[in-house]
Amino acid sequence: MAIQYINDANFEKKKVLARFDFNTPLTKENPRTISDSSRVDLALPTIRYILENGCEQLILMSHLGRPKGEVKKEYSLEPVAQYLAEKLNTEVVLAEAAVDAGVKPYLELKKAKIVLLENLRFHKGEESNDLVFAQKLSTYADIYVNDAFGAAHRKHASVHAIHKFFPKKAYAGFLMKKEIEALDKILNKPQKPFAAIVGGAKVSDKIKTIEKLLISVDHLLIGGAMAYPFLKSQSHQVGKSLCSNEDVELAKNLLKNDKGKKIVLPLDHVISESLDGKAQLSESIEIADGFMGLDIGPKSIEKYSQILQVSKTILWNGPMGLFEKEQFAEGTMKLAQVIANTTAFSLVGGGDSVSAVKKSGTAEKFSHVSTGGGASLEYIEKGQLPGVQALKFGVDL
Ligand code: AMP
Repeated sequence: MAIQYINDANFEKKKVLARFDFNTPLTKENPRTISDSSRVDLALPTIRYILENGCEQLILMSHLGRPKGEVKKEYSLEPVAQYLAEKLNTEVVLAEAAVDAGVKPYLELKKAKIVLLENLRFHKGEESNDLVFAQKLSTYADIYVNDAFGAAHRKHASVHAIHKFFPKKAYAGFLMKKEIEALDKILNKPQKPFAAIVGGAKVSDKIKTIEKLLISVDHLLIGGAMAYPFLKSQSHQVGKSLCSNEDVELAKNLLKNDKGKKIVLPLDHVISESLDGKAQLSESIEIADGFMGLDIGPKSIEKYSQILQVSKTILWNGPMGLFEKEQFAEGTMKLAQVIANTTAFSLVGGGDSVSAVKKSGTAEKFSHVSTGGGASLEYIEKGQLPGVQALKFGVDL
């Protein structure tokens, strides 16, 4: 079954319950404010579309952080309500809770055209995919919209169980559509040559994605701390680089596999004696005792760039080094620039890689910057997500 998108819905005089991913970084000081508004900004086209198409009341919902089923003030959606009110230039009422007594009076307020429910994860029922919790949420509206791609890999009540109560009345928003279409381009017959860059810190977190990608890619470029278990498994010296024994075993198995030939590893490194130390160059693959690898070196950048420049599809997840520190950011920044200058279909996903790409000033030149790190990895690995399946087929609970 195909997903119904909001363009297919009739919102005229309807109450609409819409799930977004407002899980946005906040400042530490009081009162807390949003420090990076990207996720809320990306929700605005769907919100505006629903409002402009005659809906009677729009009820917004999201999670924020990990309050684990308890009310914790620091995870209140208050800063999001304020930001939305500014952006939409209208009142956004923040309900005290998502269900029960804390919500009813707010929904009944005469001027409450837009109501934001308080953090869904203040209630245990959200993460346990509880039907009763989902049923309570469903009573607020006639139509359900899901635009929270970042939460689509979770089997949580507001993205999964809730479908039980909106048969044929569940629609995907614009962001969800964009994300699915971009990832489908990677999954279904990507244009060749196809190169994937996988970096970051831990092999075990991304092993399944790497295995899946090895089937379809022509080259899999490894960078960041991810590279050292691979190099160690080939008996290279990695000094005191981040490298667990468990990851060395996983890397060894991947390289042994026939498809392991597609894996490309760094030829040189930017190293240091500590995470805060001075950057030095190790011109060979080996990293001397007492040093750790913290970025890929110039020969590696050159080799990776050559592969990327002739690729027609590029997928990137995970930085090439400790890019948060300037002295270890060059590999990540240079590759961002190389990709930005290709005509390839380029998709970057994962919180750290997305901030690296933004920092490099090249984000608009990527074909797609995915908002959901975990969701995009899981979609690549499994070809489906619980939240997306539910939009397609409903739920059987
Ligand atoms: P991940 O969440 O697995 O994508 O990992 C991203 C994090 O890995 C970022 O905070 C990077 O700074 C960090 N990282 C990347 N390369 C290295 C490295 N060589 N040594 C230590 N940390 C690294």
